[in-house]
Amino acid sequence: MSGGAGPAVAEGSATGGPGVDAPVPALDVVGVSAAYGPYRALFDVSFDVPAGGVVALIGSNGAGKSTVSRVVSGLLPTSAGTVRLDGTDVTNRPAFKVARAGMAHVVEGRGVFASLTVEENLKLAFRQRAGRRAVPESLDRAYEAFPLLGARRGQYGGTLSGGEQRILSLAKVLVVPPRVLVADEISLGLAPLVTDIVYDGLRRINEAGTALLIVEQQVDRVLEIAERAVVLEHGSVAYRGPSAGALEAVERLLGSRERAEAEGSAEAGVADADADGPGSGAGPDGPAGGRGRA
Ligand code: ATP
Repeated sequence: MSGGAGPAVAEGSATGGPGVDAPVPALDVVGVSAAYGPYRALFDVSFDVPAGGVVALIGSNGAGKSTVSRVVSGLLPTSAGTVRLDGTDVTNRPAFKVARAGMAHVVEGRGVFASLTVEENLKLAFRQRAGRRAVPESLDRAYEAFPLLGARRGQYGGTLSGGEQRILSLAKVLVVPPRVLVADEISLGLAPLVTDIVYDGLRRINEAGTALLIVEQQVDRVLEIAERAVVLEHGSVAYRGPSAGALEAVERLLGSRERAEAEGSAEAGVADADADGPGSGAGPDGPAGGRGRA
């Protein structure tokens, strides 16, 4: 794990800073802050995703999860900090260059062409990523991995269910396994059976060597597949470490939030509203509530 997130972060026991011989992580996020105009959304966020590893990024609504996924994918610039992909600094590079460097970003409802059939969607993606000659074999692999898509190969993308569209988005990355896949709430609102298929797809992609950063609200679900977790609270890292410790961290955050509400001290939650740094993070004793406007 990267250092630099300050003492307020609850570290899991198996973390520890990168040693001299530490392998280069697939994704390394160091001290990243980001804002939407004047609105600060991330404060000094640090974590990494080991090569071939699976990391869950969890947190309550508005904690900053999607903002992290946008920043690492090059869709939102950082105001501070560094993002490295396989050791290469990709901070504030445009999204297409980050993608070219090995990053794939799958977001709910994105990347499916409504007026193309399933097969046309796949062919287009495979041609772009791997060239015309790779298309037939890639199609076979996609239909083998996701039989549901084979059954619907002639159906227009726009008429697929939400779950089927997300499976199609995942299938597109199978052809050339990216170094890192950021999956942003791709199981949101899906029926449990479809969620199973999505997670099965994520597992396959990971087995093919891709490191995963899975942004999720369904904590139980994602912690089954992830070895490590990062818990965000108010735009800061509240916990990073083994998945086993993440639930406890989430419960601690919820507990301290409830206590604060019970004590009628809602103001305490915005006491650090101008903080921009490690001090704004939520520590082991609860969230410091350091989100605010610049
Ligand atoms: P959820 O689980 O509800 O999707 P999240 O953890 O992904 O939440 P983000 O979407 O990263 O949270 O949002 C973090 C904060 O940034 C929120 O307070 C949100 O309102 C704010 N935010 C997100 N997108 C924008 C935007 N385009 N403009 C201004 N503020 C934004």
